This record gives sequence, structure tokens and C-alpha cells, in this order.
Amino acid sequence: MSTQAMLPEVGEWEWPGGAEAAVSLTFDVDAEAGWLGEGPAYERRLTTLSEGRYGVVRGMPRILRLLAEHGIRATFFVPGYTAQIHPGLVESILTGGHEIAHHGHLHLRSDKVSPDAQRAEIEQGLAALEKAGAPRPTGYRSTSWELTPETFDLLVEHGFGYDSSCMGDDRPYYELHDGNALLELPVHWSLDDWPRYGWNIDTGGNTAAPGELYTSWLAEFDLARAERRHVVYTMHPEVIGRPQRYVELARLIEKFAERGGAWYAPLADVADHVRPRLPVTGR
Ligand SMILES: [Zn+2]
Repeated sequence: MSTQAMLPEVGEWEWPGGAEAAVSLTFDVDAEAGWLGEGPAYERRLTTLSEGRYGVVRGMPRILRLLAEHGIRATFFVPGYTAQIHPGLVESILTGGHEIAHHGHLHLRSDKVSPDAQRAEIEQGLAALEKAGAPRPTGYRSTSWELTPETFDLLVEHGFGYDSSCMGDDRPYYELHDGNALLELPVHWSLDDWPRYGWNIDTGGNTAAPGELYTSWLAEFDLARAERRHVVYTMHPEVIGRPQRYVELARLIEKFAERGGAWYAPLADVADHVRPRLPVTGR
């Protein structure tokens, strides 16, 4: 895969309302699926599953309230299984005016399963979201951000409008594969809460000092404004929804408001905005 040439340069991006930067807050609502997708052994690990469930039970209400207070619309990547076992989740997201996007069904990593299983992840995820009352998603994010050629082709086949799993640029660009192009709204580990605060008993994890996320994400916000670009922040309700992290996120959003200059937009809105301004090359 390769990136597209001819991207608008720094300072050339224009955002609605003359905003200095487009800012997308994105939440991957992995919940129990985040663990069940790791293998059947997790079916009997009630404690681990309960930590995932916390994201829906406690994290989501906090996050939705914070976004409503600031009038921010965000993107929620919801695995089909999460939508299936948590009635009311999809409705609560839609009531807030947010976007629901595709994040697989059982949160299986594309690079670890067969092409048939990858197809099932896409199709079962679509069916479960539809059954839960979500509009057909136009966006996709792969589990652990591992996108494979097979899943790339499935996204094209199913007419997805954008992907948000790759890291080939820090501006919107086209990810190219086998003559096909997908609008990419790129992510990065440095803009993800999981590497900082995610931890589990088997693999351990990082335990960044409280405040580290605030400092580095504010720096990225200022850089995005200076470069007039888009920035995508990725969070998980079971991680950022814990009280001390939630407070850090709330403080950050207040600081963003103080700085000003942000166009907060779900990824689908950013995709619609940039698509006509970003010609595909290299097909
Ligand atoms: Zn996930």
C-alpha cells in the first residue's frame, strides 16, 4: 500500500466556518467483544469481561454527557456484538447526534483470521448495527488498526466511504491497494488512550502518569491548528471513562475551547468535506 501524492500542503486546508483545525473525537466501544475477540478462553473470564462492560455501563454515560455539554458530535466505532448485547447503546449514541461506524462484529483482528472470517466480521457487523437501529455506517476502523488486503477489498465491495485504521500521513489521504483507493482518516498510537492507560493481567501495559495524555494531546491540538489540519483522537470508554481519566479528558476539552479554532466533526463529516478537495491519484 502506498500513500497518494499531491496532498494539500500545510496551511492549505480549509475547514467550515474558517476553523483552524478539524478535530474528531473517536471512541471504540469494544466492551466485552474486545476480549471475546481474543479467543474463546475469555468466555469464562468474568472479571476481564466485566471490565469491558464497565465501558458501556459507566464510561458511555459520562462521555455522552461531556460531549453534550460542549455541543460536540463524535464518532463511535461499535462492534456488532457490542450493539447486540447492550440494548439502548446505539439509541443513546444516536440521540446525542453522533456517528456510529463499523468496528467488526466480534472484534477479530483481520490479520489473525481467514478471509472468510474477515467477510463474516464485516457482514455480521453490518447486520447487527442495522438490527440495533443504526443507519448503515459509512466508516470503518479495524480491530487493533490492523487492516489486511482482504478486508480492504471488502470495504470497497461494501461501499464504505472511509477507513480510519492506517497511519501513512497525519492528514486525510488515500490508502491505495491493488488499484483501489480508500479515503483514509489516519490514526496514530500517540493519539490513543490505550497505550497509555490500557492494562491487563496477562500482558501488563503502560501506566502513564496522570496528565500525560492532557499534555501531549494539547500539543497535538496546537500543532493541528498551526498546520490547519485534521486530528483524530482515539479513546475507549472502559479506559477514558474511568473517573481520573475522564476528568483529564474533560479538562482537555475545556482547554481546547479556551484555545478556540476547532471544527469538531464526526469522521463521516470530515470525509464528506475533504473528498471533493482531495483528488485520488495513483489508481
Ligand atoms: Zn477496538
